[in-house]
Amino acid sequence: MSEQATSTDPEDEVVRICRDLIRIDTTNYGPDVAGPGEAEAADYVAAQLREVGLEPQLFESEPGRVSVVVRIPGQDRERGGLCLHGHLDVVPANAEDWSVPPFEAVEKDGCIWGRGAVDMKDMDAMILANVRRMARDGVVPPRDLLVIFFADEEAGGDLGSHFLVKEHPELFDGITEAISEVGGYSVTVPTPEGGQQRAYLLQTQEKGIAWLTLTAQGRAGHGSVPNDDNAIVHLAEALTRIAAHKWPREFIVSVRELLDRLSEITGTAYSDEDLDELVGHLGGAEGFVRGTLQDTANVTMLDAGYKHNVIPQHAEARVDCRYLPGHEEDLLATIRELAGDRVEVRVEHSDIAIDAPFEGDLVEAMTAALTTEDPGAEILPYCLSGGTDNKALSLLGITGYGFAPLRLPADIDFAPMFHGIDEKVPVESLRFGTRVLARLIDTC
Ligand SMILES: [Zn+2]
Repeated sequence: MSEQATSTDPEDEVVRICRDLIRIDTTNYGPDVAGPGEAEAADYVAAQLREVGLEPQLFESEPGRVSVVVRIPGQDRERGGLCLHGHLDVVPANAEDWSVPPFEAVEKDGCIWGRGAVDMKDMDAMILANVRRMARDGVVPPRDLLVIFFADEEAGGDLGSHFLVKEHPELFDGITEAISEVGGYSVTVPTPEGGQQRAYLLQTQEKGIAWLTLTAQGRAGHGSVPNDDNAIVHLAEALTRIAAHKWPREFIVSVRELLDRLSEITGTAYSDEDLDELVGHLGGAEGFVRGTLQDTANVTMLDAGYKHNVIPQHAEARVDCRYLPGHEEDLLATIRELAGDRVEVRVEHSDIAIDAPFEGDLVEAMTAALTTEDPGAEILPYCLSGGTDNKALSLLGITGYGFAPLRLPADIDFAPMFHGIDEKVPVESLRFGTRVLARLIDTC
């Protein structure tokens, strides 16, 4: 056996665990298709916990859809506890598009490559390596830690986080705060003096989700006969109005603070109308930030017709809408108005926006943990344009942050790797994150 294989140093364990987890293909194909991977990954995680004397509980929402839970009692059990959570599932990877096999956890160029390397088996491994260290060394955290590895995050969490929140809320008794993806990673921005400054994006807000189905009805008929009541045309007109709509910009708290502080650090001025140069400094993270300047509505699927010479009776489209905190009703009213009276709008799936303060003891502790390991770094708040399991936990009043700490090289294009091809995480970043997480959970 190699030295690394037997090492119990958490900075070695995190690498081993991350690679082991990537090699278990936990692709989430949606609610009706259970792959074997999630259950296997849950068994792996449970075995890692049992090996150090912990007693995890496994919860199966549907066959093969397994989440793993373990609580570590703290010194002060009256204090509100902290939930550390990650999801074990990943989005599909099309192997032909990748330059390495996506489920082999190849190690090259100082990185571990594979589906889930950044979303989010990296953080799963950091959590697991730290929990194993605490159990082995007999570390009792200041307050209760609730550690959860969820199934089904990538399909909205109905069979993972939402299942546990709804069916087993007692697991979360006394838990007040949570940390997980997607935040805590670094970007490198230019300074006015011609230097570079590293800044960590701490996620404090998440946009809400409204997945809509738009259905148009019309008069069916022969393709050769004039028809002024064509369902496809009604739908196309509605979609064109929605696509052309300029959603008004609104600068929510975290976005405004991010832009203001970025402007100070880089010496780049911006206005509410012109901020291209400023957000351009964020590299790949620019897209995440652009998505949080306003509500959005993107047409993603279209379904109509069945024969070249038949005018169909109805036509259907799917629209993916994301709204800023507090905007849900406004967004739906606007979409209904744009859709017009020939098109019906149905909400297929929705989830709330969440909003946590960029202040308080936990934020200070996360900041201190990062700046102790990376002195001189800036910590900036940001809003995620997507969603995480923190939405489900917020239904129980738990305040969630995105904090999966990674110090990244300046030239890595990190944010586009979420659900992208050639996903990879630098080994040094994993080790760094493991140290930061240790500082946080041992002391806060
Ligand atoms: Zn994720």
